Amino acid sequence: MTATRVLVLNSGSSSLKYQLLDMRDSTGAGGRLAVGLVERIGETTSRLKHTPLATGGESRERTGPIADHEAALQAVAEELAKDGLGLDSPELAAIGHRVVHGGQSFTEPTVVDETVLAEIERLIPVAPLHNPANLTGIRTAQALRPDLPQVAVFDTAFHTTMPESAARYAIDVATADEYRIRRYGFHGTSHAYVSRETARLLGRAPEDVNVIVLHLGNGASASAVRGGRCVDTSMGLTPLEGLVMGTRSGDLDPAVIFHLTRVGGMSTDEIDTLLNKKSGLIGLCGDNDMREIRRRIDEGGADAPAARLAFDIYIHRLKKYIGAYYAVLGRVDAIAFTAGVGENAAPVREAAVAGLEGLGVAVDGALNAVRSQEARLISPTGSRVAVAVVPTDEELEIATQTYALVVRDN
Ligand code: ADP
Repeated sequence: MTATRVLVLNSGSSSLKYQLLDMRDSTGAGGRLAVGLVERIGETTSRLKHTPLATGGESRERTGPIADHEAALQAVAEELAKDGLGLDSPELAAIGHRVVHGGQSFTEPTVVDETVLAEIERLIPVAPLHNPANLTGIRTAQALRPDLPQVAVFDTAFHTTMPESAARYAIDVATADEYRIRRYGFHGTSHAYVSRETARLLGRAPEDVNVIVLHLGNGASASAVRGGRCVDTSMGLTPLEGLVMGTRSGDLDPAVIFHLTRVGGMSTDEIDTLLNKKSGLIGLCGDNDMREIRRRIDEGGADAPAARLAFDIYIHRLKKYIGAYYAVLGRVDAIAFTAGVGENAAPVREAAVAGLEGLGVAVDGALNAVRSQEARLISPTGSRVAVAVVPTDEELEIATQTYALVVRDN
């Protein structure tokens, strides 16, 4: 029997998201066997939610203490076994792990060995929140199935094709090199998937298509993709740079930090929390959910003006990046909106491209209003630049890359 299943793990500091996919169906669409999430690992109120898609069964929930990632993965394995999908199955080909930071070392998905683990560990200073959790996930999965290939798929990998002119900050080169300060970019798995799917939607080869991808979730980033290769992206050394996000400021004069230190007396950690957790939409208006912001604007009550200003700042930044990446690419074939906001918020899409008719960019009001889970065009027929909504699927992309690597190696 050929092993065709891939387990995808996305380990956060206190969470573990997973999907089990069967890669026989290369689109993955019919091949999603189970999905789930363990939250609040390490607390007494941990929760596991498991949905067995293969059997069409109801979602199951478990609550109660789950001490660590090892216990979490054990609990996931037990749930999968109840559906006849146990992780001891010979049909499991590999485990694919989302790893946030691969630095300059990892340009491709990589089968994990001790050297790879050591390098992911070496990158912890540039990804202090994410890489330790990702490492724990890998080690836990190794302990459970030491015989299986564990594959690391890096959020940064897709962006390693950026030219030095885009990847470097204009600071002293020796200092930058000593501390590995450069623009790495994140959400790369999504940008890779969505740019390829956009080419597919246009009926063209990825090599022939230039795309601006706007990944607008709670975290948000834009990328400029020329012929399937990333040439610029909005996140930098960390995910703080670029677009206005749910709780992150995005671009900002770095002197704001000196000012807050010198005049505001704030500590580095306080400023870190301010810019990463208390800024962006939530800092501007108290809500980071675009649905809530739109509701406040539409209802027009006393809390509408702050929501309106937050929305306008969000859109202004987004439009600046569309313009910048249009200039970087020279020729743009498509602009693709993706992730929670990009896929669902028609007013964001409409506002982001408003006034860009001179660049050949426009959306059709009726097409933009359609709600669908499918990739679709929302620009008027015959537009110079196609505007598309392309649902992202990072788990499928991780599974696809993992499976391709494991099959190729055997
Ligand atoms: P994450 O970055 O956490 O993976 P997602 O891509 O799931 O985020 O996006 C989450 C965000 O998507 C929410 O914070 C919310 O603002 C937005 N969102 C989800 N559904 C809608 C909707 N129907 N309309 C507007 N915004 C939405």
